[in-house]
Amino acid sequence: MIRELHNKLINKEITSVDLTQQYFDVIEKKDKDIFAYLTLTKELALEQAKKVDAKIARGEKIELLEGIPGAIKDNLCIAGVRTTASSKILDNYIAPYDATVIEKLKEVGAVFLGKTNLDEFAMGSSTENSAYGVTKNPHDLTRVSGGSSGGSAAAVATGEAVWALGTDTGGSIREPASFCGLVGLKPTYGRVSRYGAIAMASSLDQIGPLTKTVEDAAIVLSVIAGQDKMDATSAHSSGKDYTKYLTGEVQGLRIGIVKEYIDGLGEKEKKAILEVIKTYKKLGAEVVEIELPYSKYSLATYYIIQPCEVSSNLARYDGIKYGLSINDEKESGLAENGMPKKLLETYLDSRHYGFGKELQRRIMLGTYALSSGYYDAYYLKAQKVRTLIKKDFEKAFEKVDLILAPTAPTPAFKIGEKTEDPLQMYLADMFSITANITGVPAISVPGPEVEVDGKKLPFGFQLMGKWFDEENVLRAAHAYEINK
Ligand code: GLN
Repeated sequence: MIRELHNKLINKEITSVDLTQQYFDVIEKKDKDIFAYLTLTKELALEQAKKVDAKIARGEKIELLEGIPGAIKDNLCIAGVRTTASSKILDNYIAPYDATVIEKLKEVGAVFLGKTNLDEFAMGSSTENSAYGVTKNPHDLTRVSGGSSGGSAAAVATGEAVWALGTDTGGSIREPASFCGLVGLKPTYGRVSRYGAIAMASSLDQIGPLTKTVEDAAIVLSVIAGQDKMDATSAHSSGKDYTKYLTGEVQGLRIGIVKEYIDGLGEKEKKAILEVIKTYKKLGAEVVEIELPYSKYSLATYYIIQPCEVSSNLARYDGIKYGLSINDEKESGLAENGMPKKLLETYLDSRHYGFGKELQRRIMLGTYALSSGYYDAYYLKAQKVRTLIKKDFEKAFEKVDLILAPTAPTPAFKIGEKTEDPLQMYLADMFSITANITGVPAISVPGPEVEVDGKKLPFGFQLMGKWFDEENVLRAAHAYEINK
């Protein structure tokens, strides 16, 4: 996709301004039904596009992503642009600076169409926790687009953006990619700077692309990867051209599969994954059974560590420093007299009105698990289990180069299906969370579609790689994509 559009730009078959305008036309036509976008940045986009056209007119060389319009998840800061994280508490927040990924994308002349919907502060698996409404699945409007990066996924799948950025703390790039029939890549923890991503669970968060093809994901990753002095956890590595590794072959690559992951699936999903395995075998990969005995504790571990980090990260939203501030009685609708509140009341009311139900649940869980007397039993224990899960992966990667698993247990579920039961919602991430717990890179690739209620729906599979081995992850994903 990106390369074709790039060729059209340099051959002067189309201008970046026209291309950008075409995408805004699609948005205008389709986004009423889909609701992928929270904010459009039309002025900024056209200004960016104009610059690229001027460069082409001057006969200058342009980068692959230059002049190509994309969408940005609304928990990534663009200077001067409203950035809500889909939360009422940041409803009026204008980011004062660019995230590092945004800075890098601006440097190569990428075009930003707007900011996309997500679950509030990226907590959720369906965008149903957004304070602004749910993003619908373009393949079936009665279904969710996944979450938390559901807006980004739906935008690309609908043709409302060529590429998009999402964030993935426990599956939030990969699950929506699987639900919308896209490629979604969570890079290795540390591969991409998190500076300017609104922090949720800092030891698990990563930024990555959602795209139609593996090559597009590689192109975006090549731009956003690299060490950054603004993020101490960004790894000592520079970005490189990941498209170089898309050789189309997997001969001799060792791919691990976990029997329990596959046996636990429904009949149709199991069949789809088995077909993927067959394809890899046919392509010359060696498929090996492996064991990850501690991975069954991943979900439980995540739902201790993640809320703990959330309770600490979200403490900054106190009604004073950022966004919503309910500091007089009138604003909270409690009284007409507009008397100023006491400081503590301002804190409590701003958080009470500003945060949605799921956030309050996580903050309470995290605060509880970190409190004295419970810290050892919950947080510390979860950290120890995290190490055991990591050791499982280290051991597995002595035998194999990649691990193949489902991305999610099922295709997209219905809107409203899981909202009453948070545990059911959490289970949507049972296969994706281990990559965040361990930090390894993982990609979701569209596999064979799965029929639900007489309708074929996208269903992705996941490839997890060794730490910082995005090369093989992308290579194997691409080989499947072009040979399936
Ligand atoms: N669904 C998971 C959660 O609710 C993961 C979210 C994410 O990856 N941002 O926490």
